[in-house]
Amino acid sequence: MSADVLVLGGGLAGVAAAQVLGDAGVRTTLVDRADYHQFQPLLYQVATSQLPAEDVARPLRTIFADVPEVDVVVQGVASASLADRTLVLDDGRRLTAEHVVVAAGARPNFFGVPGAAEHAFPLYSVADAERLRRHHRALVAEAVRTGRFAPADLDIVVVGGGPTGVEVSGAIAELATALRQSDRLPTAGTVHLVDRGAAVLAPFSPKAQAYAHRRLEEVGVDLRLGTGVAAVRPDGVDLTDGTTLATRTVVWAGGESGSAIVQQAGPTPGRGGRLDVRADLGVDGFPGVWAVGDVANIPSGPGPDAPTLPQLGSVAQQSGRWAGHNVLRASRGEDLQPFRYKDKGIMAMIGRNAAVAEVGAHRHEVDGPIAFAAWLGVHAMLLSGVHSRTDAFLSWAWDYFDRDHAATVESHDAPRRIAWGDDSDDVPHIDLGG
Ligand SMILES: Cc1cc2nc3c(=O)[nH]c(=O)nc-3n(C[C@H](O)[C@H](O)[C@H](O)COP(=O)(O)OP(=O)(O)OC[C@H]3O[C@@H](n4cnc5c(N)ncnc54)[C@H](O)[C@@H]3O)c2cc1C
Repeated sequence: MSADVLVLGGGLAGVAAAQVLGDAGVRTTLVDRADYHQFQPLLYQVATSQLPAEDVARPLRTIFADVPEVDVVVQGVASASLADRTLVLDDGRRLTAEHVVVAAGARPNFFGVPGAAEHAFPLYSVADAERLRRHHRALVAEAVRTGRFAPADLDIVVVGGGPTGVEVSGAIAELATALRQSDRLPTAGTVHLVDRGAAVLAPFSPKAQAYAHRRLEEVGVDLRLGTGVAAVRPDGVDLTDGTTLATRTVVWAGGESGSAIVQQAGPTPGRGGRLDVRADLGVDGFPGVWAVGDVANIPSGPGPDAPTLPQLGSVAQQSGRWAGHNVLRASRGEDLQPFRYKDKGIMAMIGRNAAVAEVGAHRHEVDGPIAFAAWLGVHAMLLSGVHSRTDAFLSWAWDYFDRDHAATVESHDAPRRIAWGDDSDDVPHIDLGG
């Protein structure tokens, strides 16, 4: 089977590339192992029962329902040979095309820490978030039912003090506070946040770091900075400073590397196991091959020493779109254009009424509701690439930020939903097996 373009991956990058190509009338096949797109920035709300998993995933076939040129194939890609632009699927099919856009994302990097891959909960997919939610909820339910529990049953260790680790720590700590206030348990456990660095939110300014530090402490997070994780066991974590934290729940937000599929696909993987790309997003030495989003090392400017862009939703979406346009230029025989990233800044939501943002390329620092508004604007824009109902997201998100939603979650079994509408085609089939 052949298409004009193959897109590997239906995340923000792959969807954006396929949309550009499909809209231009190019026959495009998008392959993903899941039948849905997953919106990673809302995964920790799933993990902390603030949102059902279905609300952060959207069927790929629904996204492309009005773009007949895009054919969605729901299959894992078992291997890729980028030299001849071929993907071999789990069911044995081989797909080839004139162009392949690799948008296969990333996977957790456990940095060889013993026990981490076996016992820690990564937070990279809807299935990961749902597994963590069920595990934590089962521990809480057992403690409430029996009234007997050790601190380790409810304490949680979060590894990694970057935006994901900070956001998930803040959300879990708020949930623990709500649980305590519900009088169902005398204590709801402590969240320990461990990071090798001296401060949380390493990419942010010292002022933003101090704000995040203070807000996390205010919601009861125990910050263990300047120490790493030596080993993860089913009942605890050994730290490099010689101490041990007893816990049955370790959340891994400690880093990521390029998707497994690109490790043996032809090009030698670059830093972080990602594919190095030229400024035009093409892979050198592999004509017709492009790499975008989290799977790619995308230069931030001209010259060999330019640092690469961070693994962010807006980088993924913009690079996906740009690669789509460069494929169109290539097929028209036009010059390729170097990727120009429109930097919206960096931001993190720490909890209710607490967010921090460095807005725009000049990194203007704001916090509190203004930072949340910036977060909302950027995320609504990301979401608009995969969902038409951003108004529903905006109203859910303001409510989330504004109210003590953790308390509501604790008193109701079902989290409040985003009012996406009730079209049954919009419900993804989430399989926790993979
Ligand atoms: C918990 C979390 C929170 C985040 N929060 C933010 C945030 O607030 N703001 C922000 O800007 N960014 C955030 N990010 C980063 C952002 O979500 C990513 O940079 C972006 O989603 C990457 O998009 P992508 O399309 O490159 O990869 P992905 O979204 O990972 O998509 C890759 C796709 O490829 C598919 N795939 C991979 N291998 C195979 C295979 N072998 N066969 C078939 N399919 C395959 C996967 O199933 C997946 O659908 C967050 C990330 C995480 C994990």
